Amino acid sequence: QPTGYRNFPMVPRVVYGKGSFDQLGDILMPKRKNADAPCIFLVDDVFEETDLVARIPRIFNDLIIFISAEEEPKTDQVDALVEKIRSDFSEPPSGIIGIGGGTLLDLAKAVAIMLNNTGNSSKYQGWDLVQRPALYHVGIPTLSGTGAEVSRTTVLLGPEKKLGINSDYTVFDQVILDPDLTHGVDKEQWFFTGMDCYIHCIESLNGTYLNAFSQSYGEKALELCKEVYLGELAPSESREKLMMASWHGGMSIAYSQVGVAHAMSYGLSYRLGIKHGIGNCLVFQHLSEFYPEGVALFHKMKGKHGIDLPTGICADLSDCDFETMTTVSLSMEPLWENALGPGWRNKINAEKLKAIYRKI
Ligand code: NAD
Ligand code: ZN
Repeated sequence: QPTGYRNFPMVPRVVYGKGSFDQLGDILMPKRKNADAPCIFLVDDVFEETDLVARIPRIFNDLIIFISAEEEPKTDQVDALVEKIRSDFSEPPSGIIGIGGGTLLDLAKAVAIMLNNTGNSSKYQGWDLVQRPALYHVGIPTLSGTGAEVSRTTVLLGPEKKLGINSDYTVFDQVILDPDLTHGVDKEQWFFTGMDCYIHCIESLNGTYLNAFSQSYGEKALELCKEVYLGELAPSESREKLMMASWHGGMSIAYSQVGVAHAMSYGLSYRLGIKHGIGNCLVFQHLSEFYPEGVALFHKMKGKHGIDLPTGICADLSDCDFETMTTVSLSMEPLWENALGPGWRNKINAEKLKAIYRKI
């Protein structure tokens, strides 16, 4: 057997169950260094003035920072948060706890990394550039689908690129999966973020990087997505299953890669600021050439839930804009290689991508 297989980290501790959020206090207690080393809770501002805030186990000089998920996380935003935490406290925090969707989870990961590393966060966008372990960090998803709770990346929009900080230190030390926290997400958001998971499965299972490890997770996640979006589940069961679909979908791409929809969605998002979930859907609907069965099922799920995707998104773009989007997209080489194989450059080109973008 050849050696040199990737040695991936996984989330070492996870609690699963309805109401498990209330164990957070007990989980944090042994991690508290002293009364001056606070726990910092980064919380989606959609929860401001909800009863979830009262359930946050805040003691000593702990701090809750509410953050809007309106825009995707930026390197500047991470640097400003780190600067604030450093200047507000005499000691480094005991831990960073992210509570929210993919946006807040990614911010928590990035802040925890940057509190223990020097310079600006944009310096670490890429693969394995982080030198020192992150501060203890906990992820608590309130929206299911991205797989950010299990992944070894945190996707940031930087001055030059939208790219993840991919490293072994990015992975959460602890995750709390409480399906009740996803109660109250509106239907469109539930669909778009859930489709991120569905598309992870389709891209992983149809990719050339597929192996039995990824396949086992991808097949389970796909099965759960079908139950959630095409079955007739009770709402609470549906929330439980989508939370586990997200987890498995994330695990599936850990050992493989995403594909065409993600590569093209990055281009859309870079130029137009379109968010990840909806961006994936906008692209994926036009990818039947690459994923015939997956796209057909997508249309079925979309129809069942009465979801309308916006149209004319790219109508006013210039040639130069299309050029930017295709360049960003084609630079995601591992995604194309996973999707189309080692000869991918002969199978896809800028003109073909532009034709797809024009349909959006
Ligand atoms: P999000 O975190 O951006 O949130 C979307 C909306 O849902 C926001 O308005 C938010 O306030 C709201 N929301 C969240 N939880 C809610 C709840 N319980 N009730 C009501 N509203 C709620 O959405 P997302 O799709 O989860 O995350 C997208 C982000 O995740 C992007 O920045 C993307 O780059 C990132 N991402 C990261 C990874 C990774 O592996 N690190 C993977 C995929 C996507
Ligand atoms: Zn995704």
